[in-house]
Amino acid sequence: MSKRDYYEVLGVAKNASQDEIKKSYRKVAMQYHPDRNPGDKAAEEKFKEAAEAYEVLSDSDKRAQYDRFGHAGMSNNGRGGFGGGGMNMDDIFSQFGDIFGDDIFGSFFGGGRRGSGGGRTRGVRGSNLRVKIKLTYEEIAKGVSKNIKVKKYVVCNTCHGSGAKDKGSVQTCNTCDGSGQVRKVTNTFLGQMQTVTTCPTCNGEGSVVTAKCTSCKGEGRVYGEETVTLDIPAGVSDGMQLSVGGRGNAGERGGMTGDLIILIEEEQHPELHRDGLNVGYELHISFTDAVFGIQVEVPTIDGKAKIKIPAGTQGGRIFRLKGKGFPSVNSYEKGDQLIHVNVWIPQNLTNEEKAMLEKLSHSSNFQPKPDKSERGFFDKVKEMFS
Ligand SMILES: [Zn+2]
Ligand SMILES: [Zn+2]
Repeated sequence: MSKRDYYEVLGVAKNASQDEIKKSYRKVAMQYHPDRNPGDKAAEEKFKEAAEAYEVLSDSDKRAQYDRFGHAGMSNNGRGGFGGGGMNMDDIFSQFGDIFGDDIFGSFFGGGRRGSGGGRTRGVRGSNLRVKIKLTYEEIAKGVSKNIKVKKYVVCNTCHGSGAKDKGSVQTCNTCDGSGQVRKVTNTFLGQMQTVTTCPTCNGEGSVVTAKCTSCKGEGRVYGEETVTLDIPAGVSDGMQLSVGGRGNAGERGGMTGDLIILIEEEQHPELHRDGLNVGYELHISFTDAVFGIQVEVPTIDGKAKIKIPAGTQGGRIFRLKGKGFPSVNSYEKGDQLIHVNVWIPQNLTNEEKAMLEKLSHSSNFQPKPDKSERGFFDKVKEMFS
């Protein structure tokens, strides 16, 4: 089985802040915590997977390594201490002190959690749903709100998710008296031990359905469609994932709804190309315009801009429109637009044009005299990518 992407495991974007990572991990850890999912092997695996993802993404060194090399970068680094074997439960719980601190999560996972009469779990959580969304440069530059239709499981309208035919067909579970848990006392050599497990009759739900809803056949959800409004922040980029909590598939019998994961795709722009926060544009001007100078209009991700090409501009020169690039998705930084000048050398000439140019070709002004300040190609490239 191949390992899932750590960012995906925690449902955060590749450039998520430490705070966001911590928050998401709390959420996932809460959801799959063994105390909430007793005996559920799949939940335990998810819980461990999330802990491992958090272990890496919360450490800037490990995260940088993971960003560069993926899981391969994790497997044989001696420092990490989890070479593919995953973390054990003791490691994970020892992490919790830092993460949940002394806020409400601390008390949730602390000692008294079972006394509250809780432990009941409703239904089965719905799965996450992934959708791709294509955005133009203009949309990315400003951020955009999109309504998309998503085909997915939605809560059954007839039974409102309970899966029961009517109110009378839901009964408190006799086995556990509605607590969702059963206690067993066993005698061991250490004395009597009490263990608490999920009620086998109701699977921890505390109630049983005696007659099923006919619309959803008792599932509490039906396959349908929902229109979801997505607010995409400015500055996202190709391959980024955004997670919208609670907009995925509805759960079974009132279970939590999964998340909607949005995968961002960039639409190619006919004239501009993106390089991180910067935008590149190839400007082609004629030989005479380069000699005499010209005012030109260039496309930007925010409409047209006029720029002045001074007389005597050499081919290869790069003009920078400050702040006309993409905004950063997580800071106030903004990129620039870089305009790369290409001077068009005529390829077909009439005899008359040839004669005129030949007359000029020996003029000393036509001989190349590169200025010391004229930067070479490699310096320019450096500027392009800096
Ligand atoms: Zn129903
Ligand atoms: Zn029960």
